[in-house]
Amino acid sequence: MVSASSTTSSPLSATIVEPTIFDLSSRGRVGVRMPESDVPAAEPPPQHLLRPELPLPELAEVDVVRHYMRLSKFNYSVDGGFYPLGSCTMKYNPKINEDVCRLPGFLFTHPLQPIETVQGNLALMYQLQEWLKEIAGFAAVTLQPAAGAHGEFTGVLMMRAYHKSRGDDKRVKMLIPDAAHGTNPASVGMMGMTVVTIPSDERGNVDLKALEAACDDTVVGMMLTNPNTLGLFDENIEKVIALVHGCGGLMYGDGANLNALLGIVRPGDLGFDVMHFNLHKTFAVPHGGGGPGVGPVGVAARLADFLPEPLVGILEEGDEDKDMPPLYGYMKPAKSIGRMKAFHGHFGGGFVRSFTYIAMHGPDGLKDIAQYAVLNANYLQARLRDTYHIPFDRICMHEFVAEGQFEGSDVRALDISKRLMDYNFHPPTNYFPLIVHEALMIEPTETENKDTLDAFAETMIKIAEEAKTNSAIVKSAPNNTQFGRMDEVKAARELVLCCWLPENYDLSA
Ligand SMILES: *Cc1c(COP(=O)(O)O)cnc(C)c1O
Repeated sequence: MVSASSTTSSPLSATIVEPTIFDLSSRGRVGVRMPESDVPAAEPPPQHLLRPELPLPELAEVDVVRHYMRLSKFNYSVDGGFYPLGSCTMKYNPKINEDVCRLPGFLFTHPLQPIETVQGNLALMYQLQEWLKEIAGFAAVTLQPAAGAHGEFTGVLMMRAYHKSRGDDKRVKMLIPDAAHGTNPASVGMMGMTVVTIPSDERGNVDLKALEAACDDTVVGMMLTNPNTLGLFDENIEKVIALVHGCGGLMYGDGANLNALLGIVRPGDLGFDVMHFNLHKTFAVPHGGGGPGVGPVGVAARLADFLPEPLVGILEEGDEDKDMPPLYGYMKPAKSIGRMKAFHGHFGGGFVRSFTYIAMHGPDGLKDIAQYAVLNANYLQARLRDTYHIPFDRICMHEFVAEGQFEGSDVRALDISKRLMDYNFHPPTNYFPLIVHEALMIEPTETENKDTLDAFAETMIKIAEEAKTNSAIVKSAPNNTQFGRMDEVKAARELVLCCWLPENYDLSA
């Protein structure tokens, strides 16, 4: 009965044949019993839309659980091992977050409920807005955007609206350093603005001369990640911001790397006008193929009127003496760019988890996070510096970028990453930032102990040795994972998104 519909071969392991969920199906097996309906029956869809032959598998609950459990074990996860995926901040997600977001009062609410019945939810959102304002030094925050990239889009829309509102129509150019994440130029491109790339200097800072030359009255502003994607804090940040402000531009902060700054530096104090947070990175929301992103945006006072609506605000002040809480509700900023998302953003999966995480750590705990994240990255950088070339070699922040290549060896960054999987480590980020050849971008996060960092460093050193003495085993990696090395081009060109259909099922029928 076992079909070969999901087979794989890797050079060193035998071909694995996995039963599909259809192989396990047997007529009449039942996994759920539907409760009796307590609403009036609705008309079924028209006959031509029904597919009586649709071959849905029939399974008992235990079969379904085992099916998904088995699939989940093919995956690598933060709960399973070290995950130094640079720029993504794959920190451990404390399980108390899960307890809190499953509290019935949060779980069983609907965004269309009357505000009187969801005051707890609104109070949580209000408090989260307040905390994010305080953490990053901004005048106001929207929680709406669905991820970092969506936050960028929101922020740039506000920048454009700000210039327009002043009758300043010439501004069409966004300055973006060559170290930037791809979402920055993409967000700007989506608005029909022009991207002007600003090179980095030899210390990994924004090249001030190039920036000065690009600053004129057609500049919308600059999008800057600080610390940048090399893991370096820009040593001239005040000059950079002064130059952009000097030509009437606004300063956008890509807040993906906020983990390095918590409790130490506030981007708003540095002069950033607008910044997105990646709550899923900095404030412990599971992400990456699994969880929803959350990309709140903070703004300085001059942009506050342009924020998306609705914000959560206090409609009626409370009275502590009378033990009366305030009444929370929705507010519309005066020149709002409008709505960015259905309802209010990712409430349970995002806001509640991040709220819990911030509440649990408090101000001192948040500062510890940044300090340990930076310490861990510098420790790893110091351990690997003699083996891997670090092109911008100075004290790093929460991550650093090494080169995955060696003289006289054909091993490349991708091979090193695949070989790490054989040793049960998740690979670092590869080939980003673009300004480093064979980039390996390593972000250990604060949640790893020294033993784990040492084990990873020793494995990286061992792979470098293998690259010189036995490069075949590195080039063929991963050799002992469930699936061998994928053809990434074919995977992208010939998407198969429903591999669970029976082999002979006719999709066009
Ligand atoms: C992750 C990241 C983004 C995009 O954030 P998403 O939440 O993935 O959309 C933007 N910039 C940098 C530097 C990032 O690391």
